[in-house]
Amino acid sequence: MAVSTNKTTHRTTELSDCTDQDLCKEMLYRVIDGQASSREEEIFGRKIENCMSCFKQYQYEKSMKDVIVSKIDKKSVPSSLAEDIIFKVKKLA
Ligand SMILES: [Zn+2]
Repeated sequence: MAVSTNKTTHRTTELSDCTDQDLCKEMLYRVIDGQASSREEEIFGRKIENCMSCFKQYQYEKSMKDVIVSKIDKKSVPSSLAEDIIFKVKKLA
């Protein structure tokens, strides 16, 4: 009996067309974090033109980042909150 592994991926087949996902991902995060040079941004821009999976990933990550940035801007999270989280994580470790 053949086991089908496509049951849950039939809607996202186009998301697996990336031939070098690791490289795309690395560039993606550099661009989103604003660490990429203009040259790197240019290379990345060309790359995602031919890479639908990474283009979608980029759009998703960028919108997530925009949400986070706008929330921080409005609320201006106190640094003590971050310290509190670090303290709790350390306690769990
Ligand atoms: Zn890619």
